[in-house]
Amino acid sequence: MEKTKRYMLAESEIPRRWYNIQAEMPNKPLPPIHPATKQPLSPEDLFPIFAEELSRQELNQEDAWIEIPEEVREKYKFYRSTPLVRAYALEEALGTPAHIYFKNESVSPMGSHKLNSAIPQAYYCKQEGVKNVTTETGAGQWGASLAYAAKMFGLEAAVYQVKISYEQKPYRKSIMQTFGAQVTPSPSMSTRAGKDILTRTPNHQGSLGTAISEAVELAQTTPDCKYTLGSVLSHVTLHQTVIGLEAEKQMEMAGEYPDVVIACFGGGSNFGGLAFPFMRHNFTGERQTRFIAAEPESCPKLTRGKFMYDFGDEAGYTPLLPMFTLGHNFRPANIHAGGLRYHGAGVIVSQLLKDGMMEAVDIPQLESFEAGTLFARTEGIIPAPESCHAIAATIREALKAKETGEEKVILFNLSGHGLIDMASYDKYFAGDLQNHTISDAEIAASLQS
Ligand SMILES: *Cc1c(COP(=O)(O)O)cnc(C)c1O
Repeated sequence: MEKTKRYMLAESEIPRRWYNIQAEMPNKPLPPIHPATKQPLSPEDLFPIFAEELSRQELNQEDAWIEIPEEVREKYKFYRSTPLVRAYALEEALGTPAHIYFKNESVSPMGSHKLNSAIPQAYYCKQEGVKNVTTETGAGQWGASLAYAAKMFGLEAAVYQVKISYEQKPYRKSIMQTFGAQVTPSPSMSTRAGKDILTRTPNHQGSLGTAISEAVELAQTTPDCKYTLGSVLSHVTLHQTVIGLEAEKQMEMAGEYPDVVIACFGGGSNFGGLAFPFMRHNFTGERQTRFIAAEPESCPKLTRGKFMYDFGDEAGYTPLLPMFTLGHNFRPANIHAGGLRYHGAGVIVSQLLKDGMMEAVDIPQLESFEAGTLFARTEGIIPAPESCHAIAATIREALKAKETGEEKVILFNLSGHGLIDMASYDKYFAGDLQNHTISDAEIAASLQS
């Protein structure tokens, strides 16, 4: 029988609504807390920083389905649906009876899933009369996506890029500049937050936390300017559910349903985006799918962090969020999966993990590149270093299936391609990459600071 490799949806099948899991979770996330008043946050508290509609989406625990504006759907059609692919060659290389599928988000024009949220965020800002958007970016994928989305809707974009990534990944800066964004390495001397950080730690390499502090400060001090975020927050994950909703239809075309769903984990948006539409069938008892978030060993907030209220950024500008965290002053090792170097996890995922609705694994850096290289050599796509973590976790599951002879169905998210990350692959091939383990004492110290 002829084998089907790729499953695509017609344009008319691109989802018309996002799935808001907050409305259907057995235990809803605890409310974010206003740092000054110590009261639960209302959408109005977020209006000075975020577009109003995004603020409402952030705290919406009532509506399970939220309509995708027609203008946004039109832009999604530039690259959606993304393919669902059966990884036959990877299966064969592993000698596993497991069926491995991946959702290929690397085909977006910016090479990652980030554009799925950049488009609606820019759209809502435009609708509300905003002229400038600011943001932070780690490895640069979010900044690139926001720069492009801002251009689509005629907005100016100012991006603070984590300094280590700015230096390690110069082409991402070039991409952002191609779309007309202004890019500043963070921490910088252009904001009070940046100056404070540099005064304390002059050679600070930057983190998502420092860059968020700077971008938020710029939004607060500039007229007609809003801040946007590429991960962690609930409205970002909401937009990303377009991934899982498509995948659900595509798995149906393949005549299968996943036993295990896997994605890499930075702040949780590509994980939630793929997982949540499937997880809703676990809530009703109709399915018992396992969900696995794959984080780096060097930044293990899900596997070794603590569930508590913490700031989303280094300077303490953001609301206090109930989340698994390593402490907002945590400084992860300079691993090459820049998009996974964030100290905390989104509030939805944190609650789901606490409630045992999902699992997490931590992956050493070398194992991630080994997995990514095998994937490239079998499936012909060079994965982003972040996505390599999902591939490594998938391979672990596929090898377990080989031991037990189980024909289980694994679905993972290929969150992005690695074609702009070849410097990292070069280091891996040269033997210059290491694993970065952190001790319990280091984690405890970070949580107390
Ligand atoms: C940003 C990014 C991630 C991590 O962010 P999440 O919000 O956890 O999805 C993973 N993969 C790629 C390719 C990214 O750009």
